[in-house]
Amino acid sequence: MNAKRTEKPNRTARPLRYLAAALALLFAVFSLCGCDTAEKTETFTAMDTVMTLTVYGGGSAVKDAEALILELEKKLSVTDENSEIHRLNESGSLELDPDTAVLVSRALSLCAETDGALDITIYPVVRAWGFTTGDCRVPTGEELASLLPLVDFGAVRISGNTVTLPEGAMLDLGAVAKGYASDCAAALLREKGVESAILNLGGNVYALGSKPDGSAWRVGVADPFGEGGTYSLVLSVTDMAVVTSGGYQRFFEQDGVIYRHIIDPATGRPVDNGLASVTIVCEEGLKADALSTALYVMGYEKAVEYWKKHGGFDAVFILNDGSIHITEGLESCLASASGGQTPEIIKK
Ligand code: AMP
Ligand code: MG
Repeated sequence: MNAKRTEKPNRTARPLRYLAAALALLFAVFSLCGCDTAEKTETFTAMDTVMTLTVYGGGSAVKDAEALILELEKKLSVTDENSEIHRLNESGSLELDPDTAVLVSRALSLCAETDGALDITIYPVVRAWGFTTGDCRVPTGEELASLLPLVDFGAVRISGNTVTLPEGAMLDLGAVAKGYASDCAAALLREKGVESAILNLGGNVYALGSKPDGSAWRVGVADPFGEGGTYSLVLSVTDMAVVTSGGYQRFFEQDGVIYRHIIDPATGRPVDNGLASVTIVCEEGLKADALSTALYVMGYEKAVEYWKKHGGFDAVFILNDGSIHITEGLESCLASASGGQTPEIIKK
């Protein structure tokens, strides 16, 4: 009797088990061949800007990338009293998380390579202008003269993971943090098997792989004279960082004069050299971010010289007269330019 009773249910259960096994197999094959291409988008505020991560596939990877960026913000913010950078600035010497120490060391190398156009010890001056606190003001000449000796990336010491600053000096990683964060987020997504994502960290764009249909990502270079949301040109890129620095991104006006947030470390004053924006295109977000700030500080002629000498990246320069100039490597990436304007191609 018992044997008979168990036989019947078994006969009906077997096809169900086969079906379950077949479905599990199908799911495994589906995941392995990367067929999970569902779009997931997260928009959030971090590092003082609005970020949007759009990821195809990867399950919850987009959430993990967001968490990673928020974690980095907590470590790198110059204003958050609990951040490593704030604590270093307060104490003058601090053992940093190994990854942060590597970032500081890499950023210092980029300061040297750009001959101090990028200088991550700019914070005492940036703070005096009020750009990070929102309490913007024009410092006096004497005040700037007293702060400028503190701006000297060459005086920062690193021993192991411990960074030591000269008396009164302070770091500001604002010129490199978003690019670095985009590299970290892209690395995490790749680890999780993502092959297609577009990460927009407030104008710092990282195009991971290509679009799900295999075509290149299209990344717009903002029109520095537009109201926002308009582009001077559009580039087709894959596995590239596209990072723009420009005075139009943050500024204040006093007595009819506009003061912009990128400071010339040589003078302590906002850059005003005829450049409206610089966009750097290269494989590494950190380098693109560092160079976009540095080349904006250098001005058009010196920036072009720098590109000719160093290479390893491409650039878009938009001048205050509205003219657009692109380095030769971008000619093949140019998807469109606004107003039918043909950019000048800069050759080596
Ligand atoms: P970015 O938008 O990447 O060009 O970075 C600009 C931010 O970097 C500013 O808001 C400042 O916090 C900081 N900064 C300004 N001037 C410099 C400079 N010459 N070198 C390094 N950081 C700077
Ligand atoms: Mg930058």
